[in-house]
Amino acid sequence: MFKKILIANRGEIACRVMRTARKMGIKTVAVYSEADKDALHVGEADEAVCIGPPPSSGSYLSIKNIIRAIRHTGAEAVHPGYGFLSENAAFARKLAKEGIVFIGPPPAAIDAMGDKIRSKKLAKKAGVSTVPGYAESLKDVDQALSVSRDIGYPIMIKASAGGGGKGIRIAHDDDQVRTGFHSAMREAESSFGDGRVFIEKFIENPRHIEIQVLADSHGNVIHLGERECSIQRRHQKVIEEAPSPFLDAKTRKAMGDQAIMLARAVKYASAGTVEFIVDAERNFYFLEMNTRLQVEHPVTELTTGLDLVELMIRIAAGEHLPLRQEDVKRSGWAIEARIYAEDPARGFMPSAGRLRRYQPPVGDGVRVDTGVYEGGDISVHYDPMIAKLITHGHDRNEAIARMGLALDGFLIRGVSHNIAFLAAILAHPRFVQGNLSTAFIAEEFPNGFDPASAPHDDPAMLVAVAAASIHHAYQQRAASISGQVSGHERRVHGDWVVILKGENHQATVSSVDGGFDISMDEGAHKVRTDWKVGEPLFHAVIDGSELCMQVERNVIKYRMTHAGLQDDVLVLNPDAAKFQAIMPTKAPPDASRLLRSPMPGLLISLAVRPGRQVKAGEELAVIEAMKMENIVCAERDGVIKAVHAEPGDRLTADQVIIEFEP
Ligand code: ADP
Ligand code: ADP
Ligand code: MG
Repeated sequence: MFKKILIANRGEIACRVMRTARKMGIKTVAVYSEADKDALHVGEADEAVCIGPPPSSGSYLSIKNIIRAIRHTGAEAVHPGYGFLSENAAFARKLAKEGIVFIGPPPAAIDAMGDKIRSKKLAKKAGVSTVPGYAESLKDVDQALSVSRDIGYPIMIKASAGGGGKGIRIAHDDDQVRTGFHSAMREAESSFGDGRVFIEKFIENPRHIEIQVLADSHGNVIHLGERECSIQRRHQKVIEEAPSPFLDAKTRKAMGDQAIMLARAVKYASAGTVEFIVDAERNFYFLEMNTRLQVEHPVTELTTGLDLVELMIRIAAGEHLPLRQEDVKRSGWAIEARIYAEDPARGFMPSAGRLRRYQPPVGDGVRVDTGVYEGGDISVHYDPMIAKLITHGHDRNEAIARMGLALDGFLIRGVSHNIAFLAAILAHPRFVQGNLSTAFIAEEFPNGFDPASAPHDDPAMLVAVAAASIHHAYQQRAASISGQVSGHERRVHGDWVVILKGENHQATVSSVDGGFDISMDEGAHKVRTDWKVGEPLFHAVIDGSELCMQVERNVIKYRMTHAGLQDDVLVLNPDAAKFQAIMPTKAPPDASRLLRSPMPGLLISLAVRPGRQVKAGEELAVIEAMKMENIVCAERDGVIKAVHAEPGDRLTADQVIIEFEP
C-alpha cells in the first residue's frame, strides 16, 4: 500500500479523500493556490504545497506545478478528485511516465470516454443502448438542420467535449437549431477549447439515472446499483438519491449489465459512472461515462456501506476487488443535496465572501462533506459549492424527513446560499411522491425561487414558535431587571399578536417545565425546547415531532426560516398591536439607475441596447463567474439609457454595465 498520496484538488472532495487516506494510515499531501492558503483542505493534510496563483489555469490545472509538488514531497500516488485534472488523460500519462500512480482509470479509458461522440460510437459497438441520433461532428448549420429533420424534433445539440451541463441546447424547430447550433458551438469552444457539436434525439420528461461501476486491473467488474439525479438546473445536478424510486428490478439489472459491458469494452479499472437517460416507459439510453469519482458518490456509499475512495486507492495499488457482484448489498435510502453559495431569488447568482457563520447540522443518518469552516472564504475563483449534505434512512420517506430537518438546521451567514430552495424541493409534494424528471425545477420553479414568498404547509406552527421565542426573550429580560422585590417581580403577560405574512394571529403562551404551551385560535401546541435567546437555531419537539427552525432578530422583527420559507414576523403585545404601524413587508425593489457587476467575471452577452424598454425579471446580461454562466435580470421596469461594457469584457466587482433612464 502507498505510504503517501497527493490530492490534486481542493474543497470538500480534497477533504473527503484525505479522510479515507488517514483511515488507511496513508500520509496526505495537499496542494493549494495562493487564494487557498487558509483553506480547510490545507489544514487537514499532513503536508501542503503551494502550486501557484488563484486562477485554476496556473494552479489546480497546472500539470507542471503539480508534478513538482509530487517530486518535492515524495508522494507515490495522486488522487485527482472530480473536475480539474480528474479526466485529463495527458495528466494520467505524464504521471505514469514519472513513475507515479494515478488513482483513477487507465489513460486509454479516459480518452475513449472523454469525448461524447467517440464514447457513443464505442458504446453502440459494445451493445449498449444509446440515444438515437447522429454521432458525428457537424460541419455547418445546413447539416445540423438536415440531421435534425431526419431524427425528428425535438432534438438536442451537444458539445462532444462537454461536461458540467455546458454546450447543450434543445431545439424544437429549424429556427432553434439555427440559433442553438452557433451558441452551443461557441460555449463549447470557450469552455473546452473544442467547438465540435453533435445532435441526438431529445428524450422528453426523462429521468437521469446512472450506474456506479467498479473495476480492478485484473478484469473484475461489478456495479453498485444506480443513483437517480433527475433534479437538475440547467443540466446540472442539484439533488441525487439512491436507489431510484423509478427503477424495477428488471430495468436495474439490464442497466447494470450494460454498464459492466461498457466498462469491459474500454478495459476500465477504478470507480466510474455510466450515465443513462430513462424515458417514461423505462427505456434507457446511454449518455456518457464519467471516468472519475462522482460528486454524488456518497449516496452509493451510504446505501452499500462501501468506501469508494478506499476501493479506488486499493485498485490503484493493484489489489483485487474485495467483493463479487452477489456480495453487493444495498440497504435503506440516501439523498444528497448540493449546498451552493448562490442566490435563488436573484437568478441563482453565485455569491462570494466570508462565511460569518457556518454550522453544519448533526443528527442520525446525517453526513456532511464540507470544504469550508466558519470564518473562511468562498472564493470567486472556483465553483460555488460549499458542502454536500447527505442523509440516510430506512426508506425514502425517512431519508427525506432527515434531509428536511438537516437543511432547517444548516446555519450559513455571510454569503447567499440555496438551502431554502433545497428545502422547498424536498418539501414539494411531487418530490415526495418520487414523480421526478429532469424538467422538475423548470416546471415547478419557473421563476426561480424566493423564500420570502414560499408557501408553508403549517403556518400555525410558525406562529407558535414566534410567540414562544418572543415570550421567552421578554421573560428573560424581565427576570434580569435588578432591584425587584421578592413576590413582586415583573411578570410577562402571555398574550401576543403574531403578524405572519400580513395576517394577525392571537397566541397565549405559558411557560411550563421544558418549554411552552401555546393556545391559539387555530388550536393548542406544546413546544418543548431548551432554546436560548439569541441562538439562531431553534431546536424543538412540537406536539411530539422533532423540528428545527431558524429564528433571528431582524431589527424589530423576527426572521423565521423553515422548510424553504423565510418570513419576517412581527410579534407584538395586544396593546401595541392595536396601534401597529403596518411595516413594509418586503424590501423595496432596487431602484438604482445602474446595473453593476455583482462580482468579477467575464461579460458573455448583453440582451439589451440603449432605448430598449425592459420589464422587471427580463434578462439583461450573462456574466461568467465562479465557473458558471449567470443570467442577470432587471430588478425593475425601465428604459436603457446606455451600456458601458461589451461582450468579452473582463468585469471588476461593481463595475457599471448598464445605465437606466432616470
Ligand atoms: P457530477 O455528477 O460529478 O457533477 P457532471 O457531469 O454533472 O458530474 O459534472 C462534470 C464536472 O463539472 C464535475 O466534475 C464537476 O467538477 C463540475 N461541476 C459540476 N457542477 C458544477 C457547478 N455547479 N459548477 C462548476 N462545476 C461543476
Ligand atoms: P454533461 O457532460 O454536461 O454532464 P450529459 O450528456 O451527461 O452532459 O447531459 C447532461 C444532462 O442533460 C443530463 O443529465 C440530462 O438531464 C440532459 N440530457 C442530455 N442528453 C439528453 C437527451 N438526449 N435527452 C434529454 N435530456 C438530455
Ligand atoms: Mg453528465
